[in-house]
Amino acid sequence: MQRRWARPERRSDGELDSIRKGRDMKLTFAGAAQTVTGSQTLFEHRGFAGLVDCGLYQGPKPLRLLNWTKPDFYDRVRAILLSHAHIDHSGLLPRWASWGYKGPVYCTKPTADLLEVMLRDAARLQEEDARYANRSRHSQHDPALPLYTTEDAEAILKRVVAVELGQWQELSPNLSFRFLRAGHILGSAVIQLAAKTESGSRLVTFSGDLGGGRSELLRDPDPVLETDALVLESTYGNRKIVSEGREDRLAAVVNKVHARQGTLVLPAFALGRTQDLLLSLFRLWRDGKIPEVPVYLDSPMATEVTEIYAKHRREFWPDERGDEILHALKSGWFKVIESPDDSMFLCTSPEPKIVISASGMLQGGRVLHHLKQALPKKQNAVLFVGFQGAQTKGRLLLDGLLSLRIHHQEIPVEAEVLYLDGFSAHADQGDLLDWVRRFHRKPQQILLNHGEIEGMQIFAQLIEQEFKVRPELPKLNEQVMIQGT
Ligand SMILES: [Zn+2]
Repeated sequence: MQRRWARPERRSDGELDSIRKGRDMKLTFAGAAQTVTGSQTLFEHRGFAGLVDCGLYQGPKPLRLLNWTKPDFYDRVRAILLSHAHIDHSGLLPRWASWGYKGPVYCTKPTADLLEVMLRDAARLQEEDARYANRSRHSQHDPALPLYTTEDAEAILKRVVAVELGQWQELSPNLSFRFLRAGHILGSAVIQLAAKTESGSRLVTFSGDLGGGRSELLRDPDPVLETDALVLESTYGNRKIVSEGREDRLAAVVNKVHARQGTLVLPAFALGRTQDLLLSLFRLWRDGKIPEVPVYLDSPMATEVTEIYAKHRREFWPDERGDEILHALKSGWFKVIESPDDSMFLCTSPEPKIVISASGMLQGGRVLHHLKQALPKKQNAVLFVGFQGAQTKGRLLLDGLLSLRIHHQEIPVEAEVLYLDGFSAHADQGDLLDWVRRFHRKPQQILLNHGEIEGMQIFAQLIEQEFKVRPELPKLNEQVMIQGT
């Protein structure tokens, strides 16, 4: 399938006039538009074009197919700014390398370190999945090809430029950017663009993914004092997250599944949520609130990610509490599974256990192999702790599907399927509104992305009521002019 790129809409004479004068900043929502993956927004100002985020589409096949097609603006892009290292914001970078992109990829220092692990792992997964598809002949393509290779990942890693939080960096004589702390995962940043205009300058702020202050492994988001326009994520725009008592609720699930000698599978983003879960399980285990059930972290990058947390520990707690956190992340009390063979062996082991594995929304990765074994048996359970995008396997399971298609096999769902609130790395409705409240100079233009349409519409109404600005909800490839630039 070819990706269809919208042509620019018809413009008024006034708009055409300001474009000819080169004053406008234009955004094109090339991903995460009314959906929660594939984050990618093109910004163009006075002849300079760049991207905010370069994320992989995950979820249903029509979305995933978008990963394969080169956008028509590809040749114009001269810089990529990354909000954070999650794959739905960074995972298309090696694809850009395969097309020949040689510009800089700017990000914070922790993000630069995490990208080394995340992108190599993403490439390895692409290669592993293609190999597995060829071996088991479950691909319609012969041979199945990876979206990108380890070489592509290495090529783009050479383009990464780490910059300090808070410092303005020049992209062109008319355009600068800076990163501010977003509190979503280690290294995550809000991105602010400053565009020179005839009347001074305009600030455009991209929230990226915002945290809600629920993770002990992160500091809260920095307040952003001023902006003219705001591109705001809205994943939980219609929801409140209840984090109180989350550890006790987790203990109850672990104890219930262990009492019936079952396996508990925890699908989780390998970065961020996995570390929060490990910290909670460690405390429950240490305090005797859960039995000594074996805990496996089935992730080839677990050890490296822990090292990066240790290196950047000033990003969370510089005191003894940081020691406890780092201790909880270091294996010893849990086991790390790195090699694919050990992972396959673990899948088929009948012992009662807890397995934490990616991907969090079940779009791929090792967790699918665990579910193939775990789902058909009543004593087992799957516990979701994060957002499940529309039509992802995770959402289908939560919606009560009786069988799940994994690697072209129908797997009956006999295991218990559960959801636990409180571990999300995202800001909820109240957190998002609070963050906007803290701007001294409030945005005059608000654009919502990274959300699903029903939730976005509810959230948009709340924003309009409180801030007297009607948010725009751009569709895929919709172009929006930033007012006043
Ligand atoms: Zn994220």
